[in-house]
Amino acid sequence: MSMIPGLERPAPVPNEQTKPFWEACNQGRLVLQNCTACQRLHYPPAQKCDKCGAADKFVWKEVQGKGHIDVYFVIRDSRIRGFRSAQPINFAVITLDEDPGINFLSNLPGTPPGKVPTGAPVELIFEKTNTGQMLPEWRVAS
Ligand SMILES: [Zn+2]
Repeated sequence: MSMIPGLERPAPVPNEQTKPFWEACNQGRLVLQNCTACQRLHYPPAQKCDKCGAADKFVWKEVQGKGHIDVYFVIRDSRIRGFRSAQPINFAVITLDEDPGINFLSNLPGTPPGKVPTGAPVELIFEKTNTGQMLPEWRVAS
């Protein structure tokens, strides 16, 4: 269940490329592709490194998922199904501490809409979708 009342999280449809990512989420782990050619992390999952261009040089690497809130906005009037009954809702850009080039989007469960401490540290949690698939999420670190 989501910690955000009324929010229905859309379930991702894993494909060959994203399957290891989603399977790790179900085990409570966040894994990212690490390019063995340039030693940089990569997200979202891809076939080719967009930093050095190497193809098929990725290995999955577990990260801690700690980060900081870069910027956020509040969705008040979305037509997106799943958001409608949860509005207003936070939408934050998280920068990963392990690689500031990697960003994730988070609804910041547990933080009231509009009361987001920009710059604050966040920690990784997982939330369940209606199919049972777990999704990575972030909450303000206590
Ligand atoms: Zn690379």
